[in-house]
Amino acid sequence: MKIGCPTEIKPQEFRVGVTPSAALEAVNAGHEVIIQKGAGIGAGFDDAQYTAAGAKIIDTAEEIFASADMIVKVKEPQAVERKMLREGQVLFTYLHLAPDPEQTKDLMDSGCTAIAYETVTDRMGGLPLLAPMSEVAGKLAPQVGAWTLQKANGGRGVLMGGVPGVGPANVMVIGGGVVGTHAARVAAGMGADVTVLDRSLTRMRYLDDAFSGLFKTRYASAQNTIELAREADLIIGAVLIPGAAAPKLISKAQLAELKPGAALVDVAIDQGGCFETSKATTHQDPIYEVDGIMHYCVANMPGAVARTSTIALGNATMPFMLDLANKGWRDACAEDEHLLNGLNVHAGKLTYHAVGKALGIDV
Ligand code: NAD
Repeated sequence: MKIGCPTEIKPQEFRVGVTPSAALEAVNAGHEVIIQKGAGIGAGFDDAQYTAAGAKIIDTAEEIFASADMIVKVKEPQAVERKMLREGQVLFTYLHLAPDPEQTKDLMDSGCTAIAYETVTDRMGGLPLLAPMSEVAGKLAPQVGAWTLQKANGGRGVLMGGVPGVGPANVMVIGGGVVGTHAARVAAGMGADVTVLDRSLTRMRYLDDAFSGLFKTRYASAQNTIELAREADLIIGAVLIPGAAAPKLISKAQLAELKPGAALVDVAIDQGGCFETSKATTHQDPIYEVDGIMHYCVANMPGAVARTSTIALGNATMPFMLDLANKGWRDACAEDEHLLNGLNVHAGKLTYHAVGKALGIDV
């Protein structure tokens, strides 16, 4: 099979769909890999690394889309890319179709077979191609929170770990899933005093077993949430209710009860955010203030560490990419129900129920 990887063209996207290491695995398995010139630069991979892996460097995206059997990317195809997709071609990338009727229509019109990273599942009921980005965002959250807390950035001027004789920052993490657990571990590692709130007792039992002593857990009742928020220097929002907008857990009125200069890092902003005053920001202009409280709400946090994110994503996607290339998408999906769950569009039809429900299209 010929696997093609174009340069990402969405603004501020520096990741690349195929790493040199994944290219090497595909070449060793007998496939041809074509990479657009400079596609890996943003993630720190130059063309020579791809050539050394046995991939071929191609000048333009047009040539890649015209000849590849399977396109492997990171972000959803942009309008200009969607026009280049062909009938029978496999597209393997993040799609997030539910809020995007235009993209859905274009993919259906193209006749391609589109497999979305975000709906591929695993045996534990998790989302293995989404988890690496949650791990990255979770580990970044205390880092950006610590920066936001600095006085020059409008924060309280509190150091995460304190110093001898001065106590550490009080950090509250709401949601103890993938993002929350990684955030809590890093915040605790920085020396902060960390409490994780969740509504799942099963999850808190696990956290208590695995991390007892490193951070505390509390049930995420409305009362506990505001009581702990009053004491917090940094609050990290990391909740997810699958398929739904994030619940608003701290209202605008409650900001007056928080410490002046406290920082809110809303990682759940890509699902609408879990603080009433959250609105999506960018890496160029990541923070803003409301009623004396600093907000950091960057919707694509992993983009800040494009190299780590690319490698983490590549590690997760590579086995699926190889399976699709080795067996062809039909056999690969027939043999793996979890990969089949990734199928969103095929031969002009939407095949994913939740997206159909969101967009009012029969599946
Ligand atoms: P997850 O499913 O692993 O964890 C979510 C946790 O939230 C679960 O443990 C759940 O029990 C808990 N929860 C649900 N409702 C709650 C409530 N009312 N109060 C307290 N806890 C509650 O999800 P995840 O992978 O950790 O993702 C968390 C969020 O981060 C998602 O919205 C995800 O889209 C987002 N995310 C954002 C970025 C970014 O760049 N901004 C990157 C990755 C993930």
